[in-house]
Amino acid sequence: MKEKLIQRFYDVFSAEGSVDVYFAPGRVNLIGEHTDYNGGHVFPCALTIGTYAAVRKREDHKIRFYSMNFEQLGILESSLDELINKKENDWTNYPLGVCWAIKEKGFSIPCGFDILYFGNIPNGSGLSSSASIEVLTAYVLREMFSFDISLIEIAKLCQYSENKFNGVNCGIMDQFAIAMGMENKAIFLDTADLSYEYADILLEDAKIVIMNTNKKRGLGDSKYNQRRSECEAALEQIKSVIPVSSLGELTEEQFEANQNAITDEIQRKRAKHAVYENQRTIKAVEALKNKDIELFGKLMIDSHTSLKYDYEVTGTELDTLVEEALKIEGVIGARMTGAGFGGCAVSIVKEQVIDSFIENVGKAYKEKIGYEADFYIVSVGGGPVKL
Ligand code: ADP
Ligand code: MG
Repeated sequence: MKEKLIQRFYDVFSAEGSVDVYFAPGRVNLIGEHTDYNGGHVFPCALTIGTYAAVRKREDHKIRFYSMNFEQLGILESSLDELINKKENDWTNYPLGVCWAIKEKGFSIPCGFDILYFGNIPNGSGLSSSASIEVLTAYVLREMFSFDISLIEIAKLCQYSENKFNGVNCGIMDQFAIAMGMENKAIFLDTADLSYEYADILLEDAKIVIMNTNKKRGLGDSKYNQRRSECEAALEQIKSVIPVSSLGELTEEQFEANQNAITDEIQRKRAKHAVYENQRTIKAVEALKNKDIELFGKLMIDSHTSLKYDYEVTGTELDTLVEEALKIEGVIGARMTGAGFGGCAVSIVKEQVIDSFIENVGKAYKEKIGYEADFYIVSVGGGPVKL
Protein backbone atom coordinates (compact mmCIF):
# COMPACT_ATOMS: atom_id res chain seq x y z
CA MET A 1 0.00 0.00 0.00
CA LYS A 2 2.79 2.42 0.94
CA GLU A 3 4.58 2.12 -2.41
CA LYS A 4 1.34 2.41 -4.32
CA LEU A 5 0.42 5.62 -2.51
CA ILE A 6 3.83 7.19 -2.99
CA GLN A 7 3.64 6.40 -6.71
CA ARG A 8 0.19 7.95 -6.93
CA PHE A 9 1.44 10.97 -4.98
CA TYR A 10 4.28 11.43 -7.48
CA ASP A 11 1.84 11.16 -10.40
CA VAL A 12 -0.59 13.69 -8.91
CA PHE A 13 1.90 16.22 -7.54
CA SER A 14 5.51 15.77 -8.66
CA ALA A 15 8.14 13.08 -8.38
CA GLU A 16 10.65 14.64 -6.01
CA GLY A 17 11.57 14.79 -2.37
CA SER A 18 10.63 12.37 0.35
CA VAL A 19 7.04 11.44 0.98
CA ASP A 20 5.77 9.94 4.24
CA VAL A 21 2.76 7.65 4.50
CA TYR A 22 0.39 7.40 7.46
CA PHE A 23 -2.76 5.46 8.30
CA ALA A 24 -5.69 6.00 10.68
CA PRO A 25 -8.48 3.47 11.15
CA GLY A 26 -12.22 3.66 10.76
CA ARG A 27 -14.33 2.44 13.65
CA VAL A 28 -17.40 0.44 14.41
CA ASN A 29 -19.46 0.80 17.55
CA LEU A 30 -20.27 -2.66 18.93
CA ILE A 31 -22.89 -1.46 21.40
CA GLY A 32 -23.91 1.79 23.14
CA GLU A 33 -25.74 3.74 20.45
CA HIS A 34 -27.00 7.30 20.90
CA THR A 35 -25.60 7.22 24.43
CA ASP A 36 -22.58 9.41 23.75
CA TYR A 37 -24.45 12.70 23.98
CA ASN A 38 -26.44 11.42 26.96
CA GLY A 39 -23.48 11.01 29.28
CA GLY A 40 -23.52 7.24 28.81
CA HIS A 41 -21.09 4.51 27.79
CA VAL A 42 -20.08 3.41 24.31
CA PHE A 43 -18.07 0.39 23.17
CA PRO A 44 -16.42 1.02 19.81
CA CYS A 45 -13.33 -0.52 18.26
CA ALA A 46 -10.93 0.67 15.58
CA LEU A 47 -10.76 -1.35 12.36
CA THR A 48 -7.92 -2.47 10.14
CA ILE A 49 -9.61 -0.57 7.31
CA GLY A 50 -9.47 3.22 7.33
CA THR A 51 -7.72 6.13 5.64
CA TYR A 52 -4.17 6.53 4.31
CA ALA A 53 -2.28 9.76 3.64
CA ALA A 54 0.91 10.41 1.68
CA VAL A 55 2.40 13.79 2.54
CA ARG A 56 5.32 16.09 1.71
CA LYS A 57 6.18 19.49 3.15
CA ARG A 58 6.16 22.61 0.98
CA GLU A 59 8.22 25.76 1.23
CA ASP A 60 5.25 28.15 1.06
CA HIS A 61 1.95 28.30 2.97
CA LYS A 62 -0.11 26.42 0.42
CA ILE A 63 -1.90 23.20 1.23
CA ARG A 64 -2.69 21.08 -1.81
CA PHE A 65 -5.14 18.23 -1.28
CA TYR A 66 -5.99 15.24 -3.43
CA SER A 67 -8.23 12.30 -2.60
CA MET A 68 -8.26 9.03 -4.52
CA ASN A 69 -11.86 8.75 -3.32
CA PHE A 70 -12.82 12.02 -5.04
CA GLU A 71 -10.56 11.95 -8.09
CA GLN A 72 -13.04 13.89 -10.23
CA LEU A 73 -12.36 16.95 -8.06
CA GLY A 74 -8.64 16.93 -8.84
CA ILE A 75 -6.22 18.91 -6.69
CA LEU A 76 -7.95 21.30 -4.27
CA GLU A 77 -5.81 24.13 -3.00
CA SER A 78 -6.00 26.19 0.19
CA SER A 79 -3.65 28.29 2.24
CA LEU A 80 -2.62 28.17 5.88
CA ASP A 81 -3.33 31.91 5.91
CA GLU A 82 -6.97 31.40 5.05
CA LEU A 83 -8.44 28.52 7.02
CA ILE A 84 -12.15 29.03 6.49
CA ASN A 85 -15.00 26.67 5.67
CA LYS A 86 -16.10 27.23 2.07
CA LYS A 87 -18.44 25.21 -0.12
CA GLU A 88 -15.81 25.04 -2.90
CA ASN A 89 -13.44 23.34 -0.48
CA ASP A 90 -15.75 20.32 -0.60
CA TRP A 91 -14.30 17.35 1.34
CA THR A 92 -11.14 19.30 2.21
CA ASN A 93 -13.21 21.18 4.80
CA TYR A 94 -12.51 18.16 7.06
CA PRO A 95 -8.70 18.31 7.00
CA LEU A 96 -8.78 22.12 6.80
CA GLY A 97 -10.88 22.15 9.96
CA VAL A 98 -8.17 20.16 11.68
CA CYS A 99 -5.48 22.68 10.62
CA TRP A 100 -7.75 25.45 11.90
CA ALA A 101 -8.34 23.69 15.23
CA ILE A 102 -4.62 23.05 15.69
CA LYS A 103 -3.94 26.77 15.20
CA GLU A 104 -6.83 27.64 17.54
CA LYS A 105 -5.16 25.52 20.23
CA GLY A 106 -2.03 27.64 19.93
CA PHE A 107 0.21 25.52 17.69
CA SER A 108 1.83 27.15 14.73
CA ILE A 109 2.00 25.23 11.46
CA PRO A 110 5.30 26.47 9.98
CA CYS A 111 4.81 25.53 6.31
CA GLY A 112 2.28 24.15 3.88
CA PHE A 113 2.18 20.63 2.45
CA ASP A 114 0.90 18.46 -0.37
CA ILE A 115 -1.24 15.58 0.81
CA LEU A 116 -2.94 12.66 -0.93
CA TYR A 117 -5.61 10.59 0.81
CA PHE A 118 -7.05 7.17 0.12
CA GLY A 119 -9.78 5.59 2.22
CA ASN A 120 -10.84 1.95 2.06
CA ILE A 121 -13.86 2.53 4.29
CA PRO A 122 -17.12 3.71 2.73
CA ASN A 123 -17.99 7.41 3.11
CA GLY A 124 -21.17 8.41 4.88
CA SER A 125 -22.02 4.91 6.09
CA GLY A 126 -21.44 5.21 9.80
CA LEU A 127 -17.92 3.77 9.96
CA SER A 128 -16.74 7.29 10.57
CA SER A 129 -14.62 8.09 7.59
CA SER A 130 -14.89 11.74 8.65
CA ALA A 131 -13.29 11.12 12.04
CA SER A 132 -10.76 8.87 10.31
CA ILE A 133 -9.59 11.62 7.94
CA GLU A 134 -9.60 14.16 10.79
CA VAL A 135 -7.55 12.08 13.23
CA LEU A 136 -5.23 11.07 10.40
CA THR A 137 -4.63 14.71 9.49
CA ALA A 138 -4.03 15.74 13.10
CA TYR A 139 -1.63 12.82 13.55
CA VAL A 140 0.25 13.69 10.34
CA LEU A 141 0.64 17.30 11.53
CA ARG A 142 1.80 16.19 14.97
CA GLU A 143 4.43 13.88 13.52
CA MET A 144 5.52 16.23 10.74
CA PHE A 145 5.92 19.29 12.98
CA SER A 146 6.65 17.58 16.33
CA PHE A 147 3.65 19.05 18.14
CA ASP A 148 3.44 18.08 21.78
CA ILE A 149 -0.11 16.76 21.81
CA SER A 150 -1.49 13.48 23.15
CA LEU A 151 -3.79 11.14 21.25
CA ILE A 152 -6.68 12.02 23.55
CA GLU A 153 -6.05 15.71 22.85
CA ILE A 154 -6.06 14.86 19.15
CA ALA A 155 -9.46 13.18 19.56
CA LYS A 156 -10.87 16.24 21.34
CA LEU A 157 -9.38 18.64 18.84
CA CYS A 158 -10.87 16.69 15.93
CA GLN A 159 -14.31 16.63 17.54
CA TYR A 160 -13.97 20.38 18.11
CA SER A 161 -13.09 20.85 14.46
CA GLU A 162 -16.02 18.73 13.22
CA ASN A 163 -18.40 20.62 15.57
CA LYS A 164 -17.16 24.14 15.01
CA PHE A 165 -15.60 24.16 11.55
CA ASN A 166 -17.87 21.66 9.85
CA GLY A 167 -21.02 22.33 11.85
CA VAL A 168 -21.60 18.63 12.60
CA ASN A 169 -22.96 18.09 16.09
CA CYS A 170 -21.07 14.83 16.77
CA GLY A 171 -20.06 13.43 20.15
CA ILE A 172 -16.52 12.38 21.08
CA MET A 173 -16.89 8.63 20.44
CA ASP A 174 -15.68 8.42 16.84
CA GLN A 175 -12.54 10.49 17.21
CA PHE A 176 -11.71 8.82 20.52
CA ALA A 177 -12.15 5.28 19.15
CA ILE A 178 -9.93 6.08 16.18
CA ALA A 179 -7.19 7.99 17.99
CA MET A 180 -7.03 5.45 20.84
CA GLY A 181 -7.63 2.24 18.87
CA MET A 182 -5.79 -0.88 19.93
CA GLU A 183 -5.44 -4.18 18.11
CA ASN A 184 -7.99 -6.82 19.18
CA LYS A 185 -9.43 -4.54 21.82
CA ALA A 186 -12.56 -2.42 22.00
CA ILE A 187 -12.77 0.73 24.10
CA PHE A 188 -15.26 0.93 26.93
CA LEU A 189 -15.61 4.68 27.16
CA ASP A 190 -17.65 6.67 29.63
CA THR A 191 -18.59 9.77 27.66
CA ALA A 192 -19.48 11.60 30.88
CA ASP A 193 -15.85 12.00 31.95
CA LEU A 194 -13.83 10.28 29.19
CA SER A 195 -12.62 7.58 31.56
CA TYR A 196 -12.03 4.41 29.57
CA GLU A 197 -10.72 0.89 29.64
CA TYR A 198 -9.77 -1.59 26.95
CA ALA A 199 -11.59 -4.91 26.69
CA ASP A 200 -10.32 -7.90 24.71
CA ILE A 201 -12.33 -8.84 21.68
CA LEU A 202 -11.90 -12.59 21.73
CA LEU A 203 -14.49 -13.98 19.40
CA GLU A 204 -12.95 -17.44 19.07
CA ASP A 205 -14.45 -18.96 15.93
CA ALA A 206 -16.51 -15.89 15.01
CA LYS A 207 -15.82 -12.67 13.12
CA ILE A 208 -17.26 -9.19 12.94
CA VAL A 209 -19.16 -8.73 9.70
CA ILE A 210 -20.35 -5.25 8.78
CA MET A 211 -23.36 -4.93 6.51
CA ASN A 212 -23.78 -1.69 4.55
CA THR A 213 -27.35 -0.74 3.56
CA ASN A 214 -25.97 1.50 0.78
CA LYS A 215 -28.99 3.68 1.42
CA LYS A 216 -28.63 7.18 -0.01
CA ARG A 217 -28.38 9.89 2.60
CA GLY A 218 -31.78 11.24 3.60
CA LEU A 219 -33.01 13.25 6.53
CA GLY A 220 -30.66 11.55 8.95
CA ASP A 221 -28.87 14.67 10.11
CA SER A 222 -31.99 16.60 11.07
CA LYS A 223 -33.45 13.59 12.85
CA TYR A 224 -30.19 13.14 14.76
CA ASN A 225 -30.50 16.70 16.04
CA GLN A 226 -34.15 16.07 16.86
CA ARG A 227 -33.23 13.01 18.99
CA ARG A 228 -30.68 15.09 20.84
CA SER A 229 -33.29 17.73 21.68
CA GLU A 230 -35.85 15.08 22.69
CA CYS A 231 -33.34 13.64 25.16
CA GLU A 232 -32.48 17.10 26.48
CA ALA A 233 -36.17 17.85 27.03
CA ALA A 234 -36.67 14.50 28.80
CA LEU A 235 -33.66 15.14 31.03
CA GLU A 236 -34.95 18.58 32.03
CA GLN A 237 -38.20 17.04 33.24
CA ILE A 238 -36.71 14.07 35.03
CA LYS A 239 -34.32 16.44 36.82
CA SER A 240 -37.31 17.89 38.65
CA VAL A 241 -37.79 14.59 40.49
CA ILE A 242 -34.27 13.13 40.75
CA PRO A 243 -30.99 15.04 40.83
CA VAL A 244 -29.01 13.93 37.76
CA SER A 245 -27.01 15.81 35.19
CA SER A 246 -27.40 13.29 32.37
CA LEU A 247 -29.61 10.34 31.42
CA GLY A 248 -26.52 8.16 31.62
CA GLU A 249 -26.52 8.54 35.40
CA LEU A 250 -29.83 6.72 35.78
CA THR A 251 -30.25 3.01 36.45
CA GLU A 252 -33.20 1.21 34.89
CA GLU A 253 -34.96 1.16 38.30
CA GLN A 254 -34.45 4.89 38.82
CA PHE A 255 -35.81 5.54 35.35
CA GLU A 256 -38.89 3.37 35.91
CA ALA A 257 -39.60 5.05 39.25
CA ASN A 258 -39.28 8.58 37.87
CA GLN A 259 -40.28 8.33 34.22
CA ASN A 260 -43.74 9.80 34.79
CA ALA A 261 -42.09 13.18 35.19
CA ILE A 262 -41.59 13.08 31.41
CA THR A 263 -45.00 14.11 30.15
CA ASP A 264 -44.45 13.56 26.43
CA GLU A 265 -44.67 9.92 25.44
CA ILE A 266 -42.15 10.21 22.62
CA GLN A 267 -39.59 11.92 24.83
CA ARG A 268 -40.14 9.23 27.45
CA LYS A 269 -39.35 6.51 24.90
CA ARG A 270 -36.19 8.31 23.81
CA ALA A 271 -35.02 8.64 27.40
CA LYS A 272 -35.84 5.00 28.05
CA HIS A 273 -33.55 3.97 25.21
CA ALA A 274 -30.74 6.22 26.45
CA VAL A 275 -30.96 4.77 29.98
CA TYR A 276 -31.40 1.10 29.02
CA GLU A 277 -28.82 1.22 26.23
CA ASN A 278 -26.25 2.60 28.62
CA GLN A 279 -26.94 -0.18 31.14
CA ARG A 280 -26.88 -2.73 28.32
CA THR A 281 -23.45 -1.51 27.29
CA ILE A 282 -22.13 -1.96 30.82
CA LYS A 283 -23.61 -5.49 30.88
CA ALA A 284 -22.22 -6.31 27.44
CA VAL A 285 -18.66 -5.45 28.46
CA GLU A 286 -19.09 -7.56 31.57
CA ALA A 287 -20.34 -10.44 29.42
CA LEU A 288 -17.31 -10.16 27.18
CA LYS A 289 -14.98 -10.19 30.17
CA ASN A 290 -16.71 -13.39 31.29
CA LYS A 291 -16.22 -14.80 27.78
CA ASP A 292 -20.00 -15.04 27.48
CA ILE A 293 -20.21 -14.17 23.82
CA GLU A 294 -23.77 -15.49 23.54
CA LEU A 295 -24.96 -12.95 26.10
CA PHE A 296 -22.99 -10.23 24.32
CA GLY A 297 -24.85 -11.15 21.13
CA LYS A 298 -28.22 -11.13 22.85
CA LEU A 299 -27.54 -7.64 24.20
CA MET A 300 -26.66 -6.50 20.67
CA ILE A 301 -30.05 -7.76 19.50
CA ASP A 302 -31.83 -6.00 22.39
CA SER A 303 -29.97 -2.85 21.44
CA HIS A 304 -31.34 -3.03 17.91
CA THR A 305 -34.89 -3.62 19.17
CA SER A 306 -34.65 -0.57 21.41
CA LEU A 307 -33.23 1.54 18.57
CA LYS A 308 -36.09 0.36 16.38
CA TYR A 309 -39.07 0.83 18.70
CA ASP A 310 -38.04 3.33 21.38
CA TYR A 311 -35.49 5.48 19.59
CA GLU A 312 -36.93 4.99 16.09
CA VAL A 313 -33.71 5.42 14.14
CA THR A 314 -33.52 2.18 12.16
CA GLY A 315 -35.73 2.09 9.04
CA THR A 316 -36.60 -0.73 6.63
CA GLU A 317 -33.07 -1.16 5.26
CA LEU A 318 -31.32 -1.64 8.61
CA ASP A 319 -34.20 -3.70 10.00
CA THR A 320 -34.11 -5.99 6.96
CA LEU A 321 -30.38 -6.61 7.31
CA VAL A 322 -30.66 -7.36 11.01
CA GLU A 323 -33.79 -9.52 10.70
CA GLU A 324 -32.33 -11.53 7.83
CA ALA A 325 -29.02 -11.92 9.65
CA LEU A 326 -30.73 -13.29 12.73
CA LYS A 327 -32.50 -15.95 10.69
CA ILE A 328 -29.16 -17.61 10.04
CA GLU A 329 -27.79 -20.19 12.40
CA GLY A 330 -24.34 -19.23 13.62
CA VAL A 331 -25.14 -15.53 13.93
CA ILE A 332 -24.38 -14.53 17.51
CA GLY A 333 -25.71 -10.99 17.38
CA ALA A 334 -26.60 -8.16 15.00
CA ARG A 335 -27.62 -4.54 15.33
CA MET A 336 -27.54 -1.23 13.50
CA THR A 337 -24.45 0.83 14.27
CA GLY A 338 -23.79 4.56 13.97
CA ALA A 339 -26.47 7.22 13.91
CA GLY A 340 -28.96 5.04 12.03
CA PHE A 341 -31.58 5.70 9.32
CA GLY A 342 -29.15 4.12 6.85
CA GLY A 343 -25.46 3.35 7.02
CA CYS A 344 -24.28 0.07 8.48
CA ALA A 345 -25.27 -2.77 10.75
CA VAL A 346 -22.74 -4.88 12.63
CA SER A 347 -22.98 -8.59 13.27
CA ILE A 348 -20.94 -11.32 14.90
CA VAL A 349 -20.97 -14.43 12.78
CA LYS A 350 -19.41 -17.87 13.20
CA GLU A 351 -16.65 -18.26 10.66
CA GLN A 352 -17.96 -21.42 9.03
CA VAL A 353 -21.24 -19.76 8.01
CA ILE A 354 -19.90 -16.39 6.81
CA ASP A 355 -20.11 -17.25 3.10
CA SER A 356 -23.69 -18.47 3.25
CA PHE A 357 -24.54 -15.57 5.58
CA ILE A 358 -23.37 -13.03 3.01
CA GLU A 359 -25.13 -14.85 0.20
CA ASN A 360 -28.46 -15.29 1.97
CA VAL A 361 -28.70 -11.92 3.68
CA GLY A 362 -27.52 -10.25 0.47
CA LYS A 363 -30.15 -12.02 -1.60
CA ALA A 364 -33.02 -11.31 0.79
CA TYR A 365 -31.96 -7.66 1.05
CA LYS A 366 -31.83 -7.19 -2.71
CA GLU A 367 -35.25 -8.79 -3.12
CA LYS A 368 -36.88 -6.62 -0.49
CA ILE A 369 -35.04 -3.31 -0.92
CA GLY A 370 -34.25 -3.40 -4.64
CA TYR A 371 -30.50 -2.78 -4.53
CA GLU A 372 -27.45 -4.55 -3.13
CA ALA A 373 -26.01 -4.41 0.37
CA ASP A 374 -22.24 -4.62 0.87
CA PHE A 375 -20.52 -6.85 3.40
CA TYR A 376 -17.10 -6.38 5.02
CA ILE A 377 -15.44 -8.99 7.19
CA VAL A 378 -13.35 -6.82 9.50
CA SER A 379 -10.63 -7.13 12.11
CA VAL A 380 -10.06 -4.94 15.14
CA GLY A 381 -6.98 -2.81 14.55
CA GLY A 382 -4.82 -0.18 16.22
CA GLY A 383 -4.81 3.63 16.16
CA PRO A 384 -2.98 6.02 13.82
CA VAL A 385 0.50 5.04 12.62
CA LYS A 386 3.29 6.09 10.31
CA LEU A 387 3.92 3.31 7.79
P1 ADP B 1 -19.01 8.94 7.87
O1 ADP B 1 -18.17 9.65 8.86
O2 ADP B 1 -20.09 8.11 8.50
O3 ADP B 1 -18.25 8.14 6.88
P2 ADP B 1 -19.59 11.63 7.08
O4 ADP B 1 -20.59 12.24 6.18
O5 ADP B 1 -19.50 12.11 8.47
O6 ADP B 1 -19.80 10.05 7.04
O7 ADP B 1 -18.16 11.82 6.43
C1 ADP B 1 -17.94 11.53 5.07
C2 ADP B 1 -17.19 12.69 4.44
O8 ADP B 1 -15.84 12.76 4.99
C3 ADP B 1 -16.98 12.52 2.96
O9 ADP B 1 -18.11 12.96 2.22
C4 ADP B 1 -15.77 13.42 2.74
O10 ADP B 1 -16.15 14.77 2.75
C5 ADP B 1 -14.93 13.17 3.99
N1 ADP B 1 -13.98 12.05 3.75
C6 ADP B 1 -13.91 10.90 4.43
N2 ADP B 1 -12.94 10.09 3.93
C7 ADP B 1 -12.39 10.76 2.89
C8 ADP B 1 -11.33 10.46 1.95
N3 ADP B 1 -10.66 9.31 1.99
N4 ADP B 1 -11.05 11.41 1.03
C9 ADP B 1 -11.71 12.57 1.01
N5 ADP B 1 -12.70 12.90 1.86
C10 ADP B 1 -13.05 12.01 2.79
MG1 MG C 1 -18.84 11.15 10.20
